[in-house]
Amino acid sequence: SFALSVICTTVLSLTAVFKLNYPSLTPSITSMATTPERALSILRSVFGYESFRGQQAEVISHVSEGNSALVLMPTGAGKSLCYQIPALVRDGLAIVVSPLLALMRDQVEALKQAGVAAAALNSSVTADEARAILRSVYDGSLKLLYVTPERLVTEEFLERLSGLKLSLFAVDEAHCVSQWGHDFRPEFLQLTVIRERFPNVPLIALTATADEPTRRDIRQRLKLEHSRLFVSSFDRPNIRYSVTVKQTVRQQLISFIEAQGRDSSGIVYCLSRKRVEDFATFLVSKGYRALPYHAGLGTEERNRNQDTFLQEDGVIVVATVAFGMGIDKPDVRFVAHVDLPKSLEAYYQETGRAGRDGLPAQVWAAYGMEDVVLLRHMIASSGASEEQKRIENRKLAALLGFCETTACRRQVLLAYFGDDYHAPCNNCDTCLEPVLTWDGTREAQIALSTAYRTGQIFGAQHLIDVITGKETDRTTARGHNTLNTFGMGAHKGRIEWGSIFRQLISAGLLGCDYAGHGSLFLTPESKPVLKNEQKVFFRVDPTHTKGAEKERRSKLRPEVEVLDDSKQHVLAALRKKRSELARLQGVPAYVIFHDKTLIEMAKRGPTNASTLRAISGVGDAKLERYGEAFLEVLRGVSE
Ligand code: ADP
Ligand code: ZN
Repeated sequence: SFALSVICTTVLSLTAVFKLNYPSLTPSITSMATTPERALSILRSVFGYESFRGQQAEVISHVSEGNSALVLMPTGAGKSLCYQIPALVRDGLAIVVSPLLALMRDQVEALKQAGVAAAALNSSVTADEARAILRSVYDGSLKLLYVTPERLVTEEFLERLSGLKLSLFAVDEAHCVSQWGHDFRPEFLQLTVIRERFPNVPLIALTATADEPTRRDIRQRLKLEHSRLFVSSFDRPNIRYSVTVKQTVRQQLISFIEAQGRDSSGIVYCLSRKRVEDFATFLVSKGYRALPYHAGLGTEERNRNQDTFLQEDGVIVVATVAFGMGIDKPDVRFVAHVDLPKSLEAYYQETGRAGRDGLPAQVWAAYGMEDVVLLRHMIASSGASEEQKRIENRKLAALLGFCETTACRRQVLLAYFGDDYHAPCNNCDTCLEPVLTWDGTREAQIALSTAYRTGQIFGAQHLIDVITGKETDRTTARGHNTLNTFGMGAHKGRIEWGSIFRQLISAGLLGCDYAGHGSLFLTPESKPVLKNEQKVFFRVDPTHTKGAEKERRSKLRPEVEVLDDSKQHVLAALRKKRSELARLQGVPAYVIFHDKTLIEMAKRGPTNASTLRAISGVGDAKLERYGEAFLEVLRGVSE
């Protein structure tokens, strides 16, 4: 019903919206203005932002002048403006192809709030509404029309479009066209038709997934081989990365979440539906507003939970990877992984949902030997071709390398995507708290030779029994208590040996029969270690006593306080007003103003329309619609 109400208000308020839209295009921007001048003027008057970021200005000029492009930019870099502003600079209607209803809905709502005539045509629109939208298309008042790929490629729709003046096509989440990536959508393949039928209309394809095979697929399928490619750095400087070793994972998760503050929205990713349910229940029992999200829930419940997350502050969604694509919520403050994702691509994408608004955000993952075993097992038993399995195993190895690294995490992550980043970043756990390592060559030799001498058919637990000299039925029955490594590692405890085995497996110094009983065996890489030709360094796992964890977390709190304590009550009052206005209209709070904008209001305390208008995120339409309401709040709290 939220989607319907959006569409209804879109249609009903089109004329009003259109009037609001026009001031931005009148007298100050005359036909004399150059394209970059017009673009900047729209950025300021419609969106309320002072200046372009990164490559935005370049992309926008390029497309506004009628050229096509493929744009690769990380999440949160501001891809939407790259087609929204050209759509306003150019004459005619822009067609935006977007794969997900939730994303469309929020984008359309955000545009309307900024006074731009936009609408969405998708399966949730009734015939009447569709007719009203089409009328606004024909009378030329609509500037942006969002459609699903399925809708776009119907002959009927293409026929309609061919009679219209089109400003551009934008294909969002363009990586869905590639079978290489993990979000492949067959309906995207048919988008080739855009270039065939409308060769003279500029096409801009955008994605946050950048690897070379995906890039090639997009260029080929959307016929962008000869168009300009814009590639931004994939760094997300406001995200703080930390990875920890799983011990009492629930407790560890709670300490992480506690450090984020009660108002913070966040996502907790798990590998299975059952884990989702367990963790959601656990967080609720600790007093958090946590909602589950996985493919096993009914559509209605899933949508309800997603809407609550989008529209309210302080909600935590516990989800499988099914959640998040197309979630545009700018103020997700944290993302936690209690199970490892499958690859660094997936990790980058899932963590990338934090901090789109550019404010400090934290991402955290906990992993253990059981993750490694489970993920390897999933690959081994997947039924994929041998070649595919090899690829997946390589991807997993890169992910484990990232988890176990003693170097700057950001550097390791970006290197995987081909970015050359100079460490230290001072915004990841290894930079903030350098990892201690120790020379474990002898321990590695003990572990490897024990695996070898027991026949390479046992898992870590039995090998640790032997190494620490524990007499069990099995060690005795097999005569393992007579091996010369029996008890040779008694100087270390079981937990330390667990860490040693995990690191040996992660580094590929031990292989594991994941599909079977988890037996460990030597690999070609083991040899130089056993022959004393290669040293092995292990990281010292942090200890996870409750006090130690707390201290660790407090060290990892962002050093920049976003707003000092004396102004927190102002922010709270502004937020309250925002929720009120959002609820009245049934829209997500952030389409009214982002947190960033409210924080700046609280900091600067504007007292009149012109000082309010100077705040980033306050454009003409929003000033007119909400200015007085927020000024009143500011006056109220300063008295
Ligand atoms: P992406 O689609 O690349 O993930 P979005 O288009 O959603 O990113 O933009 C991320 C956030 O940054 C949005 O809240 C947007 O309003 C804001 N933003 C984009 N461009 C600018 C800019 N030039 N100045 C300030 N904020 C911007
Ligand atoms: Zn770092």
